[in-house]
Amino acid sequence: MAIRIYNTLTKRKEEFVPVNPGKVGIYSCGPTVYDYFHIGNARAFVVPDVIRRYLQYKGYEVTLVQNITDIEDKIIKRASERGVEPADIVDEYTKAFFEDRKALGVRPPDIQPRATQHVEGMIKMIQKLVDNGLAYVAGGDVYYDVSRFEPYGELSGQNIDDLKAGARVEPGEAKQDPLDFALWKAAKPGEPAWDSPWGPGRPGWHIECSVMSTQYLGPVFDIHTGGVDLVFPHHENEIAQSHGANGHPPVKYWVHNGYVNIDGQRMGKSLGNFKTVRGILKQYPGKVVRYFLISNHYRKPINFSDEELTACGKALARLESAVANALFATGMKGWTREQLEQAVRPETQLAQAITAAKASFEEAMDDDFNTAGAIAALHELATALNTYVNQGIQPGQGQSEPVRAAVAAATLAMAELGDVVGILDLDTLLSAHATAETGAEAGGDGDAKLVESLIRLLLDVRAEARAMKQYALSDKIRGELSELGIVVEDTRDGARWKRVSQ
Ligand SMILES: [Zn+2]
Repeated sequence: MAIRIYNTLTKRKEEFVPVNPGKVGIYSCGPTVYDYFHIGNARAFVVPDVIRRYLQYKGYEVTLVQNITDIEDKIIKRASERGVEPADIVDEYTKAFFEDRKALGVRPPDIQPRATQHVEGMIKMIQKLVDNGLAYVAGGDVYYDVSRFEPYGELSGQNIDDLKAGARVEPGEAKQDPLDFALWKAAKPGEPAWDSPWGPGRPGWHIECSVMSTQYLGPVFDIHTGGVDLVFPHHENEIAQSHGANGHPPVKYWVHNGYVNIDGQRMGKSLGNFKTVRGILKQYPGKVVRYFLISNHYRKPINFSDEELTACGKALARLESAVANALFATGMKGWTREQLEQAVRPETQLAQAITAAKASFEEAMDDDFNTAGAIAALHELATALNTYVNQGIQPGQGQSEPVRAAVAAATLAMAELGDVVGILDLDTLLSAHATAETGAEAGGDGDAKLVESLIRLLLDVRAEARAMKQYALSDKIRGELSELGIVVEDTRDGARWKRVSQ
């Protein structure tokens, strides 16, 4: 089925047709490296990672480009506050960005260009805009003349008059109109500066994304992502620049993720509820934070709270322990990928559940990358696996070939689909403990689940003992369980157990 993407530019879902068949170019706005990134930024980094993984899963060759803004007012300000060079700030927070990104399971982009390495390209594009009559020089600054770009406001769905009402000229700016924006800023004393036809200075923020996206992905590329806060002015300006310089719109699909609220409120430094990922990672594992970030459709706002993160942790543990318990119950814990692949048979007992889960996973992801639906599909498969392990395995068949084939196939499917959204991977699943951390199972606590698995294991051993006519051993198991208040009844469908009060 075709993938459909909601395009901010057209305000509707459109069928995804790449510029070049079989290939996808994605540009994602990266961090300004002057501080640890916050949980809202994190969502804007995880979303393109998921889109890229899903498109790769669908067989596309994906090139993901994400910039690093390493020259900007905030960096210069932070450096002067600390009495260090801007480069020191950039080094420190670029390193932190890489660490925190890794903790969230976000794979590095294919190309990670830095603004300061592309100043020459920016000067060229600015010159082109001046030559095309879309930009003007004022003092040592260069501004984009928004009134000369007719489609301005199209992306954010605003008209120029409304935008003008909200715009101001800041002190020290030489622009002719409040809506005009700086392409080049004249150097102030002590600031990093590059030579240009307009004198020493540095590029504005917006121009870097126009230059780096089109340089690496071509003048027209497929997908541009960013947080919804970047629609205006950043991406509106990016369109004005790239279109103005190259004569056509640069991007086919504009994809914007929603906000992350904190305890029901917008996050802000002034509100005192500012959450960096660095801080959150001290409290929650990265994969739980990632699970939270993709637990809802990317365009909807999500709400960060301790309750929510705890719930996500439990839900993720439920997926992991469904596999871990199944591997444990079948004696396959510690197996390798090769062993699992060899164990799989063409028709396994869980084939229907696996096919259904894959179909609903893909249906959800095809529908504008609906990760909430994709996660629901993983939980459906976990339910099927739990049911199979707890009820579907005949006594004495716990380690039989067909049972192992079913569990192997389900394990590989969980790993494959879970890896597409970046919350499960096979190595983790194979080494995960059949643990007590399965508190998310409806109606039960984690220990109950563990007890259930352990008793099921003992009953399997007992059934095998009986099959080999080792009645002394089977009676011993039954007797010891009875001492613990667990009564075993042999029925036509195999052994059942229940707890009796002692
Ligand atoms: Zn950008």
